[in-house]
Amino acid sequence: MTNLLDLDAAGLAAFLADLGEKPFRAKQVSRWLHQRLVGDFGAMTDLSKSLREKLAAAAQIRGPAVVSDTTAADGTRKWLLDVGGGNAVEMVYIPEDDRGTLCISSQAGCALDCAFCSTGKQGFSRNLATAEIIGQLWHANRALLADGVSAEGRPERELLPLGGKAQGAKGALVTAPWVERGRAPITNVVMMGMGEPLANYDNVLSALTVFLDDNAYGLSRRRVTLSTSGLVPAMDRLRDDCPVALAVSLHAGNDLLRDRLVPINRKYPLAQLLAASLRYLDRAPRDFVTFEYVMLDGVNDSALHARELATLVRDIPCKFNLIPWNPFPGAAFQTSPRARILAFQKALMDAGFVTTIRKTRGEDIDAACGQLAGRVQDRTKRQFRIQPAPASPAIH
Ligand code: SAH
Ligand code: SF4
Repeated sequence: MTNLLDLDAAGLAAFLADLGEKPFRAKQVSRWLHQRLVGDFGAMTDLSKSLREKLAAAAQIRGPAVVSDTTAADGTRKWLLDVGGGNAVEMVYIPEDDRGTLCISSQAGCALDCAFCSTGKQGFSRNLATAEIIGQLWHANRALLADGVSAEGRPERELLPLGGKAQGAKGALVTAPWVERGRAPITNVVMMGMGEPLANYDNVLSALTVFLDDNAYGLSRRRVTLSTSGLVPAMDRLRDDCPVALAVSLHAGNDLLRDRLVPINRKYPLAQLLAASLRYLDRAPRDFVTFEYVMLDGVNDSALHARELATLVRDIPCKFNLIPWNPFPGAAFQTSPRARILAFQKALMDAGFVTTIRKTRGEDIDAACGQLAGRVQDRTKRQFRIQPAPASPAIH
């Protein structure tokens, strides 16, 4: 059985063509799936009964298997999703006044093994399927709407006209009004959950096209951000295939240190990474790259590091997002003290770079960035592959 959440627009069109249906049916079905967020074919009331029956015989709409669903004191909500084989991934919804952001996972585990990352320490299990990536957005929107949450706090029934109300004057389907007015609970997606999205390129690309598709979630490219640790060839592919907003996990201003923190740097060192970031900007929806920089006590957070960093990226239109490191059991790092993070921020600002410090959200439910895998491991009883602590946290 085909899971319709596994199909992008082209896939859905091909699937319906195989059933002998015209291309416009794919758009109709896509709107039912991703705008009205229905979970069964019976609800697709403007499709003929025979088509609904054909769909039910050949396909299913299978969302994620939710293991747990927890809301933190600050409104951050985290879902743990079972992806089979003893693996689980997480997604996190972060509400703010003017937006609702969903942080999505792309892999179960990650092979890139960054020294400070809990997902990396878990090792790599497998790529998520397209349905498992799209299913995160589909499920989170449904769950939030069911709870009456939207960007404007509107209750579900006002937002999801079904059946007759979904018809235009001549019976044509109209886009659900909450999508037209940007009122879906989730207005922004960040691929910053578990895994390296560019290491699961094809499935992530299909999912991104659905996030952007006007007959699906209709998000603008500026509101979809992909974070990468620096898979240079895939950055170039993404630039050509689907240039969404880009965040690059820099974490160090020289190759010696970055080799240690982000091992993929040994393959694609800083000069290549920065050149690829510049190339990406030709097509990017924003005119800057966001550099993420995790603040590790005594490792990469000195005044010297800040100066080195500022010099390194001086020719690149960029912003910095400093991430206070989130601890997890067995890790050999500590979070930089607040005063040092502020000093680091000031040094970058003085050098002319817009620099924000990431607010830690949802700490009471372990939903903070980089903590995502920790409890999953507890649950699946996988072994940590903790590397020996560096002899001394050298400052390069
Ligand atoms: N694999 C991608 C995206 C997922 S991680 C990447 O590495 O960019 C999202 C961000 O969280 C990355 O910048 C990553 O370096 C950072 N991160 C990982 N572990 C963290 C931790 N324990 N504390 C804070 N940030 C962490
Ligand atoms: Fe993978 Fe990103 Fe974690 Fe590195 S920081 S191990 S690339 S998820």
